[in-house]
Amino acid sequence: MLRDTPVKIYALGGLGEVGKNTYCFETERSIILVDAGVRFPEATLPGVDYVIPDYSYLKSNRAKLKALFITHGHEDHIGGIPFLLRTVQIPVIYAPRLAAALIRHKLEDSRFKEPVKIVEYDADTVVPIADDFIVSFFRVTHSIPDAFGVCIDSKQGRIVETGDFKIDLTPVGPHFEIDKLAKLGSEGVDLLMADSTNAEIEGYTPSETNVRAGVEEIFEKAPGRIIVSTFSSNINRIQQVVEVALKHRRKICIMGRSMKNVISIARQYGYIHIDDQAIIEETMLRNYRMSEICIICTGSQGEAMAALSRIVSGDNKNTTIYPGDTVIFSSNPIPGNGALVDRLVNNLVKMGADVKQNSLAFSLHSSGHPSRQELRLMQRLVCPKHFMPVHGEYRMLKLHGEIATQLGLDPEKVFVCDNGDTLQLFNHKVTRIGHIPAEDVYIDGNDLDGLSSATMSDRAVLKSDGVVTILINLDHSGTKLISEPLVYTRGFSSSEQAHVVRHSKMRVEEALHECFDSHRTGSAEMRSAVRSAVSKYIERRTGRKPMLMIFLLNAVRGY
Ligand SMILES: [Zn+2]
Ligand SMILES: [Zn+2]
Repeated sequence: MLRDTPVKIYALGGLGEVGKNTYCFETERSIILVDAGVRFPEATLPGVDYVIPDYSYLKSNRAKLKALFITHGHEDHIGGIPFLLRTVQIPVIYAPRLAAALIRHKLEDSRFKEPVKIVEYDADTVVPIADDFIVSFFRVTHSIPDAFGVCIDSKQGRIVETGDFKIDLTPVGPHFEIDKLAKLGSEGVDLLMADSTNAEIEGYTPSETNVRAGVEEIFEKAPGRIIVSTFSSNINRIQQVVEVALKHRRKICIMGRSMKNVISIARQYGYIHIDDQAIIEETMLRNYRMSEICIICTGSQGEAMAALSRIVSGDNKNTTIYPGDTVIFSSNPIPGNGALVDRLVNNLVKMGADVKQNSLAFSLHSSGHPSRQELRLMQRLVCPKHFMPVHGEYRMLKLHGEIATQLGLDPEKVFVCDNGDTLQLFNHKVTRIGHIPAEDVYIDGNDLDGLSSATMSDRAVLKSDGVVTILINLDHSGTKLISEPLVYTRGFSSSEQAHVVRHSKMRVEEALHECFDSHRTGSAEMRSAVRSAVSKYIERRTGRKPMLMIFLLNAVRGY
């Protein structure tokens, strides 16, 4: 009896983190996904390019996979697609127009060979999935055009997932379909899943169009070049900056790979309008007067490899910073990047630039996510019977859950979950039922196998504690040293190094002689005796636990 089949709801990514959003809805014979994102690694993950979800549960249930729905084209929602598609086959991806274009570009970029069916949806599209789900959409406002929330109807009840949103009443582009959302609410929503990114911020997120006044003011006064640095994902912002620059008769020079990519796709699909003759290449900058130039570039987070840092450090062949340049940071530092941004700003000022950053008094940036009043409004509009905060670190999810209870929802009906925690929707009631595997998988370069956590802890050891290599020369019988052991270290200070080398040699010799005396001369026994003696000494001496690499070499009897 289908009526008796519950719907399982779980996230493979997106809970306890801002990134790799991947929400799953499963019945006895179907699984649908909403979003498939990546997370960009924290500084504590050396050498990792991306973090993706563990897709193994989907792999073991691949016969059930019916479709992937994308809410919008940000990397934390689409960046996982190439990795997901290499693990399992997804029969069809539904995405709004701009996201679909970005996904196609991404798949070409990652040289994905097999054909992928991508179907564009709009606000009126309705997608039935087998006999299990009916999926429909409502338009939201966010920092990228074509952002949607998703409504999933099943025999057990209705689920609404907001996607990323803010409630912007004067947006760049189309309006939030508040009426549609209110209608869903009045018909009855059993589970709401909503964006928690700004759950710590009281009030309303300012409208995107607020930023325009600040940018206009700078353009009116700036004597020389204007360099605007922002996130390439913030297409609505780039759109506004371009409009202001063109109005002030400046040519536009785009720098940074991701910025070039995104603007080219957005122009191609009509989201950003720039005539070809208004765009200039870096090499042409010197042909124009300073007051005729607007550079739009990446690097607002102080990233060393991004366009703005490269201009400052002299790594850009075509331009540098000149006194009289005005540099606009149309962004806020992401927590953790503050020091990098400060260093970049100092260098810019040293080179004579006038730097404008976002502040309470002077608005040059607005978040794309809802603050607490908008979250309350969302609760009031949807009136959910159960609530699961999503898209946020744990403390954000917790606070968002509290907002719902303060508005009257029974705390037992609020589910603050981890990735992998599984809820069940059955006959309009949501309960917690268990957990599936949903660990982080680390991606180094384009190697899709993912790195194990053992590799990651090796890297962490190398980074913080260094490495010690020990070469031991034994005679052919393996029971006598034929020369002094060799010890090499990396990652120690020079004063530590001399000590560590000298004392380690002594410990190695002592340990080996004990082995010889007690006839424990198997290579594993000797290796372990050396390891334990040396690591104990180094930890006592330096407080560190370096990676030890021990090589036993046996001399071969000569002919
Ligand atoms: Zn987003
Ligand atoms: Zn997001």
